[in-house]
Amino acid sequence: MMREPVSSVVDPIGGGMSGNTGRYEKRLSDLAGLYADQDAHTALLQTLSDPVVYDVEDFKPGTHSGDLIYGVTRMSPGRVGDEFFLTRGHIHAKADRPEIYYGQKGHGLMQLESPEGQTRIIEIRPQTICYVPPYWIHRSINVGDEDLVMVFAYPSDSGQDYGIIEASNGMRHRVVAMPGGGWELVENKAYLPRSAEHARTLIKT
Ligand code: ZN
Repeated sequence: MMREPVSSVVDPIGGGMSGNTGRYEKRLSDLAGLYADQDAHTALLQTLSDPVVYDVEDFKPGTHSGDLIYGVTRMSPGRVGDEFFLTRGHIHAKADRPEIYYGQKGHGLMQLESPEGQTRIIEIRPQTICYVPPYWIHRSINVGDEDLVMVFAYPSDSGQDYGIIEASNGMRHRVVAMPGGGWELVENKAYLPRSAEHARTLIKT
């Protein structure tokens, strides 16, 4: 089916874009269970009255193979204990589908984990393009002190599987704030590695 070409104008300050077909937001309560310090999460929920942590506006032309979804995501700065605000994270349901993120504002990280449990971190600042290759679990983290705004694009039939992170009790590493500023990786003590067979199955899809 032929479609009409379209354009969207990105708001690099407030997030969002024109011409979007959808929008959703995630609040602090939606991030329950992601943080090591659950008491800090509960306390912050009460203090801040469940703020929006991130919102997404996207353009979805359809879901047929070979088409493209694009959009803009904006994430507030903040911390739960010594961990930064972050997205839940996922692997694509069709795990061989890639993704691109393009920094517009702020200072973020893309945390990536291979099915075998290797961690990679890509720093994203304005004008940085981050390529998420097929098969990598990925999550974005706002390590800065202002909004993190990024443009993204991925194949429309990718889908998102959030269960993979729940099944392993989170990603292998946590990104935590260092006392004097900056961030570092620490082991997630609750992490359950995937079996070699499970990892092979993911990479075959
Ligand atoms: Zn993705």
